[in-house]
Amino acid sequence: MSTHRAVARPAREPSAPAVHTGDALATHLTDASRFPGGQATSLVRPKTEGEVAHAVQHAERVLPIGAQSSLTGAATPTGGLLLDTAELNTLRLEGDEAVVGAGVSLLELETFLAEHDAYYPPIPTYTGALVGGSISTNAAGAATWKYGTTRPWVQGLTVVLADGSVLELRRGEVHAADGVFVIETPSGELRVPVPGYTMPDVPKRSAGYHAEPGMDLIDLFIGAEGTLGVVTEARLKVVTHPPQVVTCLVPFADEAAGLKLVAALRDASRATWASGDPAGVDVRAVESMDRRSVELLQADGEDEKYGVELPRDTALVLLVQAELPHDFDADEALGRYAEGERGVDGLGALLALLEEHVDFDAVELALPDDRARREQLFELREAVPSCVNHRVRDAQRDVERRADPQGRRRHDRALRALRRHARDLRARVRRARARRGDLGSRLRRQRAPQRDPALLRRRRARARGAAGLRARAGAARRLPAQRARHRAQPGQARAPAPALRRRRDCRHARGQTRPRPQRQARPRRDLPLGGLGGARLRPGSWFSASAAPRAADVPL
Ligand SMILES: Cc1cc2nc3c(=O)[nH]c(=O)nc-3n(C[C@H](O)[C@H](O)[C@H](O)COP(=O)(O)OP(=O)(O)OC[C@H]3O[C@@H](n4cnc5c(N)ncnc54)[C@H](O)[C@@H]3O)c2cc1C
Repeated sequence: MSTHRAVARPAREPSAPAVHTGDALATHLTDASRFPGGQATSLVRPKTEGEVAHAVQHAERVLPIGAQSSLTGAATPTGGLLLDTAELNTLRLEGDEAVVGAGVSLLELETFLAEHDAYYPPIPTYTGALVGGSISTNAAGAATWKYGTTRPWVQGLTVVLADGSVLELRRGEVHAADGVFVIETPSGELRVPVPGYTMPDVPKRSAGYHAEPGMDLIDLFIGAEGTLGVVTEARLKVVTHPPQVVTCLVPFADEAAGLKLVAALRDASRATWASGDPAGVDVRAVESMDRRSVELLQADGEDEKYGVELPRDTALVLLVQAELPHDFDADEALGRYAEGERGVDGLGALLALLEEHVDFDAVELALPDDRARREQLFELREAVPSCVNHRVRDAQRDVERRADPQGRRRHDRALRALRRHARDLRARVRRARARRGDLGSRLRRQRAPQRDPALLRRRRARARGAAGLRARAGAARRLPAQRARHRAQPGQARAPAPALRRRRDCRHARGQTRPRPQRQARPRRDLPLGGLGGARLRPGSWFSASAAPRAADVPL
């Protein structure tokens, strides 16, 4: 039965955690926002709820931190104690719930769940973030479109309150009544009013405390950025036997055409969710890179690095993730589609929709079992912020140099001194040469050739020349006999010269060389396929994932 009262218990085994200062502290004085001026007196890394309780009870100000990937400056300390949650790292699966310590990273969680055939959907783009941090920011990821933010996936929370007492919350057990919650703690009763503002009607709402008439107490702590307590453990709902995912990279020369496809994918997916049609389009995420992002990737060669062909006039790239049933055979479905069977399964429906909106030739498809290619497509996406970041860093340095006139004067003075010094050196060398004459300097070089790169180059060239001559002379001696024995018969492939072959065989027998790899027929890299509007499939284009051996297809 629901109530508006919650009871906090004393912490189990309270004990003092080790306190760190110096380097251990210095590395935590800023977060991913690079907000300047971070400071703290000390740092603790509690391993248990009892150590967290002791730390918050005895500190005047506490900032709990996860991976400090906050982009708002919320994980930058402004004094007081830093409470690093990274060592609260228990992890287990109970039915369709993961019971997770606040310090487990989302990547660890994702990997653990994958091993147990389960999936936690609201993982944000940065998978190094910790579970506690993602709950405290109500983080959302690319799949939020289908699955929502972190909030609905949190089924239970253990929170250490400011007085060191511990609140264990289960979704559905405590709801606000008449706009208040009552929390009984060992140090007294707290009346907590529900915030009076109205939340905007948008899927991602992370600024400020959650507010809703009759809301669940657990929702007050989700997204509270650590201001109401330290989350030590969470119960997260997970999807068991998760769907497979097919990933498509779709470039457009016309942005409006790309947005039209997004709208079509959204409408088709909503219809599938409403009808439950197993053969419907089921898109979990659509991400986009605009023209400027594409230009950055091309300028830094990132497109080539990941073997992605983005035409020069690309105005928009969509990265689409669509779901297919858990036991779906994507290869077979692709074959069916290629033979003209449309709309009989989810993959066919997706391909038909893409074919309506885009030139297939430019689309790349990573099928569910092509995990490596899928990761590469995501890495390409992640390269965009990296390209931006290094430009921002360069610009910052430039601004700093210009904004600090004294520094700039110092820099100019140093540069002038360097140039003067180089001029002096050149003049001294000229004078010394003139005094000793050409002969003297040549003798000196012969005595110390290692100091004269030009001379070294000439010597090496001469040595190479001599070796080349010797080799040519040997070859000339062998040549007539070899030619006689190995003149190719018409229509026969020419065998290698026996002298060379024997030497190679000996070296191979002694383990000095590897056998020459057998040349194999190259897989066809340009497969015509019926039923695709005449589209020809190229390596790196969307059917390559299944049409031919992958290693040959992915130009890395
Ligand atoms: C490259 C990159 C991509 C990102 N992508 C996304 C994205 O797709 N979606 C998204 O929502 N965000 C994204 N973020 C922002 C950030 O990753 C998330 O907000 C993440 O959830 C923060 O987790 P964290 O462990 O780093 O927490 P921190 O940054 O350490 O802390 C964030 C806040 O939570 C509080 N906090 C941390 N742990 C606890 C705890 N155990 N108990 C109570 N309070 C706590 C801190 O005091 C702070 O106020 C991205 C950041 C980066 C750098």
